[in-house]
Amino acid sequence: MSNIAAFLYLVSGVLFILALRGLSHPATSRRGNLYGMVGMAIAIATTLVLATPSFGGFVLIILGLAIGGGAGAYIARVIPMTSMPQLVAGFHSLVGLAAVLVAAAALYTPSSFGIGAIGSIHHEARVEMAIGVAIGALTFTGSIIAFLKLDGRMSGKPILLPNRHIINAVLLALILFFIAGLAISESHFNFWAIVALALALGVLLIVPIGGADMPVVVSMLNSYSGWAAAGIGFTLGNLALIITGALVGSSGAILSYIMCKGMNRSFISVILGGFGGETASSGADNSDKTVKLGSAEDAAYLMANASKVIIVPGYGMAVAQAQHALREMADKLKANGVDVKYAIHPVAGRMPGHMNVLLAEANVPYDEVFELEDINSEFAQADVAYVIGANDVTNPAARDDKTSPIYGMPILDVDKAKTCLFVKRSLGSGYAGIDNTLFYKDGTMMLLGDAKKITEEIVKAMNE
Ligand code: NDP
Repeated sequence: MSNIAAFLYLVSGVLFILALRGLSHPATSRRGNLYGMVGMAIAIATTLVLATPSFGGFVLIILGLAIGGGAGAYIARVIPMTSMPQLVAGFHSLVGLAAVLVAAAALYTPSSFGIGAIGSIHHEARVEMAIGVAIGALTFTGSIIAFLKLDGRMSGKPILLPNRHIINAVLLALILFFIAGLAISESHFNFWAIVALALALGVLLIVPIGGADMPVVVSMLNSYSGWAAAGIGFTLGNLALIITGALVGSSGAILSYIMCKGMNRSFISVILGGFGGETASSGADNSDKTVKLGSAEDAAYLMANASKVIIVPGYGMAVAQAQHALREMADKLKANGVDVKYAIHPVAGRMPGHMNVLLAEANVPYDEVFELEDINSEFAQADVAYVIGANDVTNPAARDDKTSPIYGMPILDVDKAKTCLFVKRSLGSGYAGIDNTLFYKDGTMMLLGDAKKITEEIVKAMNE
């Protein structure tokens, strides 16, 4: 029986890998999701059969599945796309809590987990349990702080405690001390000391990190929650949990790396915190500069007479849900013989792939969507760069101003196009809180207003 179970867990593991592969491109993401669902169904069914629960236990499990599954399905339906990062943070906190609860259950009833008896839990199980519970507790409180910051319920500004690095190092040393303690003696005090210290460390690690770095943190916590699950998988001797935990752990780590690379930040500088507190200036005094304001009619005229238009979507397009209107505008331009392309910055929006998902939702053809490195050289030949709700990812300060906090972040060179049409509601800054000098450049025309409304007005003007 255990051989069959191991085989079925392997099958679900392969399906999870195929799911991750499928989710890496919009064209295959539906199939990827399906693989993931089938893999999870096989894993759950196998675990249920393997555990041979009593009738009461079986009812409890089904009840748990129904409540958890129902809540998950409901939340997934109602959550707006723009709130996805905080939703993910909220879900991670539950993974961390689950890791703590499973470890506590194993500590108090080891025989039902097959890891020995009370007072004589196997040594290796105690180490796995201690590491799993430490990462789980840290993930739990860290994710709650990330959720509160992303949801605006807590200020996104970094909270910098004096000597915070020393405090964190001491907490980490104490956690390691109690992990060693639990490995040597099965004292419940050691276990709960690890939980308490890791809960505190989770809060202290995340409060100094500013809002702009929070998506990286969410992905990092995603990675931690995976490792916590894998740790508990060893305690429970559950292959599926080990495989899934390792997949989540490594994919979260890779995602954090991609985001850091897109922002030209080092992972260590993100973890140490302190970025994105005050609204930073670009170094230039913009008070005496003038801005060229334009109307939807001006934009329609400019684009209809262009031969090449590059569209740059950003977070504001997601907020306004302007992707369908944008697609309609692009269709009109293409019908008039204009070459239309979309340029996606790796950190546009609030998570990697954010813009690709929205454009795919509006059925924008994949072959019109290009990554930064594949399209950046084309802006110099473009008549119009249509920047819709993007800001930081176009800020020339990242390229030209060595004193700027975002200096070194790759940007889309929209300022090299003949005309840059900038759609946003005000002259305010983006997520990093940094002024954008592009608003004041000669070739820029600001179209102030909601991204969807302005784009719809442009389509209307084109029709007329
Ligand atoms: P930004 O956050 O820089 O700018 C978005 C702009 O959209 C704002 O300036 C805002 O201006 C405008 N906006 C908001 N709502 C609307 C609306 N309804 N209609 C029109 N405009 C609107 O977004 P970018 O996409 O350019 O950059 C992403 C930022 O997020 C970067 O700083 C990046 O480092 C950060 N980040 C992204 C990650 C990712 O994985 N994608 C991960 C980590 C960080 P206004 O209020 O004037 O309308």
